[in-house]
Amino acid sequence: MTKYRTSTEKLSITTPSTRNMSRRCFLGQTTRFCCQAGLTAMVFGNLATGVAFAESGAGALQSPAGGSAGADGTRLFDRDFVPGYVKLQESGELAKRADALWDMMSRCRLCPRECGANRHRGQTGFCRSPGTQLFISSAMPHFGEERPLVGRGGSGTIFLTHCSLRCVFCQNYEISHLGRGHERGVEEMAGMMLQLQRIGCHNINFVTPTHYSAFILRALNVASARGLRVPVVYNTCGWERLEILALLDGVVDIYLPDFKFWDSDYSAELTAGTEDYPEITKKAILEMHRQVGVAKPNRNGVMQRGLMVRHLVMPNEVGGSVEILDWVAENLPEDTYVNIMAQYNPYHKAFDFPEISRRITGEEYRKVVDHAQGLGLTNLDIQGHRWLRR
Ligand code: SF4
Repeated sequence: MTKYRTSTEKLSITTPSTRNMSRRCFLGQTTRFCCQAGLTAMVFGNLATGVAFAESGAGALQSPAGGSAGADGTRLFDRDFVPGYVKLQESGELAKRADALWDMMSRCRLCPRECGANRHRGQTGFCRSPGTQLFISSAMPHFGEERPLVGRGGSGTIFLTHCSLRCVFCQNYEISHLGRGHERGVEEMAGMMLQLQRIGCHNINFVTPTHYSAFILRALNVASARGLRVPVVYNTCGWERLEILALLDGVVDIYLPDFKFWDSDYSAELTAGTEDYPEITKKAILEMHRQVGVAKPNRNGVMQRGLMVRHLVMPNEVGGSVEILDWVAENLPEDTYVNIMAQYNPYHKAFDFPEISRRITGEEYRKVVDHAQGLGLTNLDIQGHRWLRR
């Protein structure tokens, strides 16, 4: 039997309760943790009801791994680690970058759609984000992300509403397509970040950040001045403009982009008509790598910096897994972190498209993993390895 070795097998962190975790287990554990911590509103997305996101309130919470999360999420970092945004905030550069992004919303070009909506005047863009209002679905410690992001205290995930890519199979479509969330202010988002750090999360993980990048930098400026010191994860579909990435240079510590499609016909058909997705994403990933380099966990198994690429294996080779891995091997170092994801499920409108209306098979997943290993890629996160052994 083929032995599938992952980069994360040698991590010093062992969190038995999160190893090989199914989605159901993850949700259960996250819910239990948040309930213990008095953060039920985080889990259920109702961020208004009595949850103090400011610097008081969490106290010495008990993390699921048994450690004291009250010591905050920085405790497993290297002594000399300082997130990039701190220097920029201290010099005033972070505020300037936030303003530059904010100005772009007068004829919005925050994403490659460049739809030109005047968000300052309240116009809603193609992404459906309403003007200069910020809508957040939930903020919580996430135990289902990549293990070096989860560590012991979880990844401090902030789910942002709406999306300009809008995949027809999106598993979070209620948030990304339907915009399920609550209006929040920049100060409130800064408070969420500080609270997530306080309860033991090892990073702040912005999910679908592109159309809210201006708000994120403004909130980060506030949170950094108040003591935020965990890395920022930019958890994106990969479809990003280089002009925006230049403004994020030095702000983002960990880029977590998807590389979903190789073929532009598929990307046009299975998103909101985004046929330039493959070409734009390739350029974006190269720029992300230039900024933060290869992702390697520190000696405690926690990620502090680097590029972590995600690729979701799809049925009938719709995503172009082989071509994407070939491109990674040719254009990035062999130890580039690549998560080969096996979790595809036909959510939302996927049943309208016969080629993607089922889960993948073990054989389809194995073929992709074998190909990646055959290319000599050494930093693979093979989340479906247990499933493969069946
Ligand atoms: S972020 Fe939204 S409003 Fe801005 S260009 Fe993209 S789709 Fe348009």
